Amino acid sequence: MKLKSIGIVGAGQMGRGIAQIMAQCDKKVWLYDLLPEFLAKSHSFIKEQLSKGVEKGKWDKASADQALENIKLCHRLEDLADCDVVIEAATENKQIKGDLFKKLDEIVSSECILASNTSSISITEIAGKTKRPERVVGMHFMNPVPVMKLVEGIKGLGTSDEVFNQIKHLAEEVGKVFVSSNDYPGFIVNRVLLPMINEAIFAVYEGVASIHDIDTAMKLGTNQPMGPLELADFIGLDTCLSIMNVLHEGLGDSKYRPCPLLINYVNAGYLGRKSKKGFYEY
Ligand code: NAD
Repeated sequence: MKLKSIGIVGAGQMGRGIAQIMAQCDKKVWLYDLLPEFLAKSHSFIKEQLSKGVEKGKWDKASADQALENIKLCHRLEDLADCDVVIEAATENKQIKGDLFKKLDEIVSSECILASNTSSISITEIAGKTKRPERVVGMHFMNPVPVMKLVEGIKGLGTSDEVFNQIKHLAEEVGKVFVSSNDYPGFIVNRVLLPMINEAIFAVYEGVASIHDIDTAMKLGTNQPMGPLELADFIGLDTCLSIMNVLHEGLGDSKYRPCPLLINYVNAGYLGRKSKKGFYEY
């Protein structure tokens, strides 16, 4: 069965990107956020991205208008009741996601798939908050969603093969390349990426080199498009800290301890691009 109506919970940088690509592939999208101002901001952002695409000749105005029309802004979680799949992209926090899945389980139909875009939190644990662990799955998009080709699929202990395949097909339908990961902290991408970012932050903390030189060294010395500190700002320092905490707690190895400088930045509200200050100012 094709998944046609898509609920998205959380209209931050990931949720709005997922909404955009789904809407551009003729899916009906129900986008919900706890904060109405975030919802309105995301809608304007998507509109702007669609218009830019028209100006650049990536798609025509009629399809951009149709995509925008495919997105319905929702002020209640209950508005997602009739969706075929709900993709949760709320703040990276176990409590928030656990509460959301518990509520969603009661709101949506028994056929609905509940997917999480979590960067690191256990899908098995999230699924444990519901009565449908076989229909709970990880669908980890990369940032920025319209640009990045990868989707990591995460199979919780209880996820059924049928649901996993449906999610794979959905990812491929919207033009993504799908890889499968078992449910261990950080999955594939963040298990490898975040320790590198955390190490770069330790290098700043210990005075190894300046922020600029660390990023330049990694860009030009290892052929990465963005330096690790610039990338940390882009991901969001709160999200980076949360992922390091999950790796540290879940794998129990001190090599995953978050750098004290990262903790200080987050406590100070320096969250990177989204707060206009992180390792750089925006
Ligand atoms: P963000 O801070 O930009 O957005 C999070 C949104 O969730 C906010 O709009 C917030 O209002 C909303 N929210 C919080 N609690 C909610 C609730 N109870 N109900 C509904 N909405 C709620 O964060 P983001 O970068 O978009 O990250 C979202 C998820 O995607 C996280 O799980 C994160 O780990 C994951 N992710 C992030 C990246 C990245 O590079 N930032 C990449 C892949 C996956």
